[in-house]
This record gives sequence, structure tokens and C-alpha cells, in this order.
Amino acid sequence: MTSDTPHDEIQAWASDCLDAIETDFHDADFDAANMRCKTAVKHCATMLASDMGSDGALRTIALIAGILFRGLADCVHAAHVTARVGWIQSPKVVEEVWQVLWDAKERISYAMAGCTHAFPQWCLERIDAVINHIKESFGDGPYVSPEIVCKQLRCSICGQDMRSCTHLPGSIYQGRLCVGIPGEFETIRFVSMVDDPKDPRCRVWPWNVEADDNGTIKVVDTTMLCSFRLDDFDL
Ligand SMILES: [Zn+2]
Repeated sequence: MTSDTPHDEIQAWASDCLDAIETDFHDADFDAANMRCKTAVKHCATMLASDMGSDGALRTIALIAGILFRGLADCVHAAHVTARVGWIQSPKVVEEVWQVLWDAKERISYAMAGCTHAFPQWCLERIDAVINHIKESFGDGPYVSPEIVCKQLRCSICGQDMRSCTHLPGSIYQGRLCVGIPGEFETIRFVSMVDDPKDPRCRVWPWNVEADDNGTIKVVDTTMLCSFRLDDFDL
């Protein structure tokens, strides 16, 4: 008899959580599903902060599981809001759902490689269906894309300028996610309107466009930059 390794234990725990969230989701018990996702994210954050977090392979599993459950929490939130009749008629709700759907899609897509459970894939298909429903209602775009100049982009792993280190943004090193941390902000060089944005959260909605009496078109109240982080475990 061999006992389960900590690695196996986390995988088994994550699989049980996915089963339970899936059941709540299909029962449309979004409050219960949300609570399970939040508890799972917190558990991963606690593992990462514990002594166990010094083991790189275990850290990686806990980090990826945390990102997956955080993405599922986003997905549950979007499903809860879009279960209400008439949500698509409210501009504020559409904007909120759009942001949350892209957060969910990015996190689940990132974390589900190697995951054998069918539920995350089912969630991604559902997310795409709602994104397409919004596009059918309001069009494919456009989006804003700003060019922002910062003094430096610092690597979250080694602290050096990202242009001079070997770490790759989005990769995991010893259970730590590599991201570029912007240094001192200098200026916004320009803002373009694009059809194929880097960040689809920066969408211009029909209600963001205003024309005045002189025929000048203005874009108002549009998200230009998002502070999205894959591993934002602060729920
Ligand atoms: Zn680095």
C-alpha cells in the first residue's frame, strides 16, 4: 500500500470541489456554487502562503487550482446575473457581465490545460455562448487600445527589467506566476479605436458614443485599461 502524496491529495480535493460546484451550477443554486468557489480559492491562497508553499511543484498545483476556481467564481457570477430576465436590456449589467465573462474565460483557459474534469470546458462553452449573444445584440466592437509609456516593466520573479531577464510573462516558476509590473507611468501616447483588441474588456458600447449639436462624436465612460490579474485571489 502506498499512501497518497500531497500532490495526489490536492488533485483529489480539486476534483471533489469541481463535482460539487458542477452539481450546484446545474441546480441553478448560484449562491452555493459561489460559496464553494470562494472557499476553494481561499484554500489555495492559504496553501500558497503556508510552509508547503516552498515546494515548487506543489505551489504550481495550488496556484493553477486557485486560478481555475477564481475563474469558476467569475463564471458563476455571470451565470447568476444572466439568469435574470431582461439583463441584456440594462447597459450597466451588460458592461459588468462582459468584463466578468472575459475574466472567467482568461482564467479558466489558462488553468484547464491538463485538467481532465469536463466541467471547466463546459463553462468555457457557456461563456462563449453568452459573449456571442452580447455580440449579436450590440455588434462585434469596436474597442479602445491605448499606447501607454511606462519607465520600466519589472519582472515579478527576479525584479529586473523584463527586457533584460529570461522569464516569460504568463509562465510559472517554482509555483510563482511571472507578470510584468509596470514602473512609473509616463504618458498615454495615443488611444486608437480597433476591431481586434489586445484586451476585449476595453469595449466601446453604443451608449458610450455621444454626438453634440456640432456633429462632434465623443466616446464617454469607456474602460481604457483593466487591472486584471490571473491570480487575484482577493474575493
Ligand atoms: Zn525575470
